[in-house]
Amino acid sequence: MGREITVMSIRRVSILGATGSVGAAAAILVANAPERFEAVAIAGGRDAEALAKTARLVNAKFVAIADTNQYATLKQLLAGTAAEVAAGDDAVVEAAKRPADVIVSAIVGAAGLAPTLAACDQGTVVALANKESLVCAGEVALARARTAGATLMPVDSEHSAIFQCFEVDRAHAVERITLTASGGPFRTLSLAEMAHVRLEDALKHPNWDMGAKITIDSATMMNKGLELIEAARLFPVPEDQIDVLVHPQSIIHSMVSYRDGSVLAQLGAPDMQTPIAVALAWPDRMETPTDRLDLAALGQLTFEAPDPVRFPALRLAREALSAGGDRPAVLNAANEVAVAAFLARRIGYLDIAGIVEDTLNMLATAPADTLERVQAADSAARTAATAAIERLEAA
Ligand code: MG
Repeated sequence: MGREITVMSIRRVSILGATGSVGAAAAILVANAPERFEAVAIAGGRDAEALAKTARLVNAKFVAIADTNQYATLKQLLAGTAAEVAAGDDAVVEAAKRPADVIVSAIVGAAGLAPTLAACDQGTVVALANKESLVCAGEVALARARTAGATLMPVDSEHSAIFQCFEVDRAHAVERITLTASGGPFRTLSLAEMAHVRLEDALKHPNWDMGAKITIDSATMMNKGLELIEAARLFPVPEDQIDVLVHPQSIIHSMVSYRDGSVLAQLGAPDMQTPIAVALAWPDRMETPTDRLDLAALGQLTFEAPDPVRFPALRLAREALSAGGDRPAVLNAANEVAVAAFLARRIGYLDIAGIVEDTLNMLATAPADTLERVQAADSAARTAATAAIERLEAA
C-alpha cells in the first residue's frame, strides 16, 4: 500500500454511493469544508430525491444514477443547477473516471466493483468503503491500484484504525493485527435463542447506525468475516496473524501488535465520520463534529473471544480466505442473496450462514484473477444460493 500523495490546496472529491450512510456522511464533511474540498462527481443507485439533495449540498458537477428509470426525475430535480446528469451502470463508472484527487467508493455490494476499479485506474486516492472490491476482487483491485499508483485508503472503521497504527515502512516489526468486533445485538444469545430472532431484532445494532444489509452482517458477524479478508488484502500480514476480538463498546476500533510487545490501538466514538474524515483529509487531519471520547464516563472497556460455534460466518470467512481463488467472492455473493432473503422474511436468521455454507460446498473452487472470473463466480454463487433458498422454502 503506497502512502505518497500530492498535497493540493483544494482537493477534488467524488462520492460513489452518495445516498448510502457512508456516502451521505462524506458529502456532509465535504460540504462543510469548502476551503478543503470541491465535489466533482456523485453517484447513487435509485433514490433520485436523496441523490439530488446531495448533489445540491455539495454542488456536484456530474451526477449519475444507476437506475435508468430515475433519469427523468433526477434531471427534473436538478433543473436550474449546472450539474450534468446521467443514468445507468456506465454513468456510475463514468462518475468514477472523472478526474478527482479522492474518490470515495461507498456503493454497497458487488455493484461497487466496476466503479471502484475505474476509480483505481486514476492513480489517486480511493477511499474504500466498498468491502466487496477487496473481498471478491482483491487480486484484481490490488493489481489495478498498483499499476496506476493509486493509494487505497480504508474507510471501514477497523481498517482505518489499523491504517493509522500500522507503520508501513516497518511491516517486518508487526507481529499481529487485531480487528475488534462489537459482537452485534445477539452476542449473548444461545444458538437455540438465535433460531427465533426476528428481523426487527436483527436490525437493531447496539453501537453503529448503518444500512440494513451491513446491520444484519454485523449480527451474524459475517461483516467481521468480510473485514478479516479485507484486512488480509490491505496489510502485509499473514492471514494467521490477524485476530478478531469481541469488544462490545466499539471504542477501540482495532490494534496493531509489534514484536517488542507494544500494541498500538486507535480509539474514538463509534461514528463513521471519523474514519471518513481520516480518508478525506489524510495525511492531514480535519475537524469533525463527532462526539468526543469520554473514557472516565465510559468507565470500562471489555473484551471476549468470538465464539465460532454461534457465529459460523467467521469460520466460513476464514476458510474462504485461506482457500483463496474465488472462495471469498462466492462467500460474499451467497451472503448477499441470503441476507436479502432474510430481509424479505423468506428465511430464518440461522439460515443465512447455512445458505452461505451450502453454496460454498455446491461450487468447486476456481481462480479469481480477472474481473470476468470474479463476475462468473459471483453469478454462479447467486444462482446456487437462490436455489438453496427455494429448496429451503419448499421443505
Ligand atoms: Mg467495520
